[in-house]
Amino acid sequence: MSIFRANRKFDRFEDVTPEILREEKVKLLLCDLDNTLTSRLSKNPAEELGSWVKACQKAGTEIVVISNNVSKKRVQNFCTPFKLHCVWWANKPLSVHLTKARERLGVEPQYTVMMGDKWSTDVLAAKFAGIRAWKVEHRKGFLKDEEKKEENGDSKKQN
Ligand SMILES: [Mg+2]
Repeated sequence: MSIFRANRKFDRFEDVTPEILREEKVKLLLCDLDNTLTSRLSKNPAEELGSWVKACQKAGTEIVVISNNVSKKRVQNFCTPFKLHCVWWANKPLSVHLTKARERLGVEPQYTVMMGDKWSTDVLAAKFAGIRAWKVEHRKGFLKDEEKKEENGDSKKQN
């Protein structure tokens, strides 16, 4: 199998259901942040993220966010509300932080998946780490409506 080939593909993170996680025996799901759990431009976590995280945890899957974003503040802003462990500036496709997170939680490679939107970082890092790669579509326009409302609210405040 090519090192660029994902083991599974999904449109959005929400399509990864607790049933799929159980079937696939995923005890640890390492997640990319930008354009996977949110669009690159969104400032706020999606409402769906909270319920999805809870459902995954209930299914016995731990989630750790592994982001290449260099901003600690941005990554923590998404992860702290859900009490998720996170790594920023992870330097994917280097696999060091994927393996560190997995070993810290004591999960074997065969029960671990890296999920992300990019072949050159997320999929490759998974392959280097000896774990499965799940590819999601590049997430665009996420929270667009809410952010529009926010922007409108801000401009109204200024007027
Ligand atoms: Mg990404």
